[in-house]
Amino acid sequence: MASILNLNKVTIRFGGLVAVDKVDLAVEEGSIQALIGPNGAGKSTLFNLITGIYTPTEGEISFGGGLISGKSTHQIAALGIGRTFQNIRLFNELSVLENVLIGAHTQGSWGLLGAILAPTRLVQKQEVELVRLAMQCLEHVDLVAKAGELASNLSYGQQRRLEIARALALKPRIILLDEPAAGMNPFEKQALMEIVQKIRATGITVFLVEHDMKFVMGISDRITVLDYGVKIADGRPEEVRANPKVIEAYLGKAAAAGH
Ligand code: ADP
Ligand code: MG
Repeated sequence: MASILNLNKVTIRFGGLVAVDKVDLAVEEGSIQALIGPNGAGKSTLFNLITGIYTPTEGEISFGGGLISGKSTHQIAALGIGRTFQNIRLFNELSVLENVLIGAHTQGSWGLLGAILAPTRLVQKQEVELVRLAMQCLEHVDLVAKAGELASNLSYGQQRRLEIARALALKPRIILLDEPAAGMNPFEKQALMEIVQKIRATGITVFLVEHDMKFVMGISDRITVLDYGVKIADGRPEEVRANPKVIEAYLGKAAAAGH
């Protein structure tokens, strides 16, 4: 299978700190790939580079064969890269459905000016379609029953799933999930694994950062490991798990040497 996302020697410096250091990386279309590494390794920064929040100091990022590094966050989202953030970013005073509609709205072809100028009938038709799309996204994350609730009334795990629904409303080709299982209990994690697999089954590529090794090992086709901004391993879960460099990064030299 071909890769959908490619990083070529991607580097970003913040002052003297090299947060991401000449990272080469490919994500296969239709796969679930994980990005792991200790805190501060550069995982979220890598997602911020892919989504255009940061521009690489050096190197190139391409998506679906076209160069995206240098494009704006909006342009990159419109090309089909959806994401969630490590810290939940929801509108607490809006309903669950409205939170997803905010994601879906960038799909509408009219925009705000168009909505003012376009015939009312057309706008209404489009609104109905957007609501249908938003409900579909809620169905993917098992939140249809909560559509009318305020986002703030959801449990933590449900809020994380709502963020995924909002990202899906963009109709992405790939979705980047930054620690989607953080703070979830084992039951919520299990449900999330099934949701992620369902999303992939609809043809969306998944690239996720996660600390829970059971989750990562259980779900990923491929795992990329960062340590201090450098890619130290990349491969199938079994390969990565047995890699001494990875064991060392997580547990220190003593563990890697078997002491
Ligand atoms: P991870 O997600 O792997 O825990 P991050 O990508 O958040 O790590 O951070 C990687 C490193 O880059 C950290 O040392 C962090 O402090 C630094 N960093 C991230 N963003 C910025 C920024 N905007 N300015 C300065 N340093 C940053
Ligand atoms: Mg992070």
